[in-house]
Amino acid sequence: MVVKKLYGPEVATVQIGPCIDAKDEAFIYESDNLVDGVLTFVELRELFDEFKIQERLVKMSDFDPPHGNWGALYPLPAGIIQAGGIKRDMVSSRVITASGKEEVLEAINDFDKYIDTLQHHFNLFFCHGCLLGPGMQHHNERFRRRALVSRYAEKRVGKLDKALWQKNMEKWSKLDFSRTFTPDDQRIPEPPEEAIKEVLKIIGKDSPDKEINCGACGYLSCRDFASTVAKGLAVPEMCHTFNLRNKQEYIETLRQTNRKLAETKKALKESEEIALHEKEIAQSASDMMNNMLEKLPTGVVIVDNNLKILHSNQSFINIIGEDAKAISDVIPGLAGADIKTLIPFNVYNMFSFVLKEDEPVLSKDVHFEDKMLNVSIFPIRKNKICGAIIRDLYSPEVQGEEVTSRVSEVIDKNLEMVQKIGFLLGEGASETEQMLNSIIESYKSKKLNSKNKPK
Ligand code: SF4
Repeated sequence: MVVKKLYGPEVATVQIGPCIDAKDEAFIYESDNLVDGVLTFVELRELFDEFKIQERLVKMSDFDPPHGNWGALYPLPAGIIQAGGIKRDMVSSRVITASGKEEVLEAINDFDKYIDTLQHHFNLFFCHGCLLGPGMQHHNERFRRRALVSRYAEKRVGKLDKALWQKNMEKWSKLDFSRTFTPDDQRIPEPPEEAIKEVLKIIGKDSPDKEINCGACGYLSCRDFASTVAKGLAVPEMCHTFNLRNKQEYIETLRQTNRKLAETKKALKESEEIALHEKEIAQSASDMMNNMLEKLPTGVVIVDNNLKILHSNQSFINIIGEDAKAISDVIPGLAGADIKTLIPFNVYNMFSFVLKEDEPVLSKDVHFEDKMLNVSIFPIRKNKICGAIIRDLYSPEVQGEEVTSRVSEVIDKNLEMVQKIGFLLGEGASETEQMLNSIIESYKSKKLNSKNKPK
């Protein structure tokens, strides 16, 4: 207000201080435009940073008058009383200063109950005064700050031109700084008894003898605390004993978890050993199978759904010929080779059919180069893997066996047919059967003799 009077209403006035409440306070005075803006010290430092202003590089200057005499004590809770020239000695002073949450709550409580005894005004600061205001960067070292402020105020008062100050006071004391107050009850209604009991139960005070009222939560009693929690202004974790109990439960849970972890680890190790053992068994079974496959005179090949070879034996490689042998020198068992590039188109089609339809193709004779192959393909895993048995019908190992089997087949087919005809004509089929059986027998004995003959 003084600035506006001195320099004109168009001059912007900014209040800079540690209090965020000043931001509201600036607008409660009835005369308009007293303060155009309010900044905290934190915001002032942000402005310095933004505009690259460094304190050590600027020239300091004193405040312009009118100066405030003991007004420099304003940051201390009781400083406002001294700055206002109100008596502060213990006996004659009619004002009691209290600061900080605990003191203020206690003061209000006493004021409410014992006003007749007290007969004092209260100067209350819920915080600890401007020297620890929220708009400062640090909020510690209260008593060091207090000493610094006192010393600074003393220094300023020592240099003050008392006569000028008096003159200014007389001049400006006529300005109207009056304001009014209206009740603005911020109290939250007391919660219902059941809600308080519920909170008490949560914090483990389910009977009055457990309400130890230690005050560690900052409330006078467990009940006060429970009521505040029920209002939504505090959380159960603020109760010391609740926390302690939680911690113990947590430790116990941790202990149990560790125990379970150790058991799981042990079980895991055991199952690892079992799995390793099973793997070894499976490996040896697989080796055995592979060895057996290798010994077979029949070609065996297993392919996946992309018609890539998973495994093939040496007989298959021999049947397919030189190309396959060359590949098998580099890739044993032709693993990964594309079967399409190794076998005739019609056989390749049979593989595709078996994989797609999940049905076997049995005993098909196919010409391949100068060979006659007998091919049987069968599904191993539906639409995923199939295997084939391929025999070279011209090879000596297969030939005799094949003649025998084919003649048996002819007998079976003829027998069936003859049975049908015989059934129709009423004649037996034994003559045909005998004739064909004799072919087989004679072939078998010939084969035996040729084997026994010395070479
Ligand atoms: S800390 Fe817990 S036990 Fe102590 S008074 Fe507060 S609520 Fe009660």
